[in-house]
Amino acid sequence: MQYKHTTQTSEQTDDLAASLAKLCCSRTIIYLYGDLGAGKTTFCQGFIKSLGYSGRVKSPTYTLVEPYTFVGCPEGGVAKEREVFHFDLYRLADPEELEFIGIRDYFDTDGICLIEWPQKGKGLLAPADLEISIEFVGSDERCFTVKSHSEYGTQLIKQLENRDFSA
Ligand code: ADP
Ligand code: MG
Repeated sequence: MQYKHTTQTSEQTDDLAASLAKLCCSRTIIYLYGDLGAGKTTFCQGFIKSLGYSGRVKSPTYTLVEPYTFVGCPEGGVAKEREVFHFDLYRLADPEELEFIGIRDYFDTDGICLIEWPQKGKGLLAPADLEISIEFVGSDERCFTVKSHSEYGTQLIKQLENRDFSA
């Protein structure tokens, strides 16, 4: 199943990310594709902040992964223990580095994994529930294509389709 959505500003990308974050209720693996500057990190920042994380969400370009464990209360929601792992594999030179950081342990948790540049970690990552591809349309316009690769991913897309972004 596939869902398309276009955003005109990074704030609208935050809104899309927040809508998806709100729906993720268990272990969720999300791959993010798109050229440099497409908005993958912006999406992840919007996602993590919307769950109630108040610190700075940095780009994990040099660390490969940035873990977020916090008690977060999203707007209108209840406080809950959250675990989000934000990966950026852009600089991954050797897949062995993923073994070194114990990548499998991250996939064994109930946490949400957001993975930028998943193509660099081919064969070593848990299969995605959702794959998000971001394309440039105009200077600030981005087209998001969200594809599901599991039954759970399909449920997420169905719920995303029912959301009204104009509100
Ligand atoms: P990536 O992680 O894909 O390399 P970033 O999220 O780091 O990309 O950078 C995206 C840049 O594009 C940011 O400077 C952001 O402010 C800008 N931008 C402009 N319009 C949008 C939009 N609609 N969605 C996301 N980012 C946008
Ligand atoms: Mg990035």
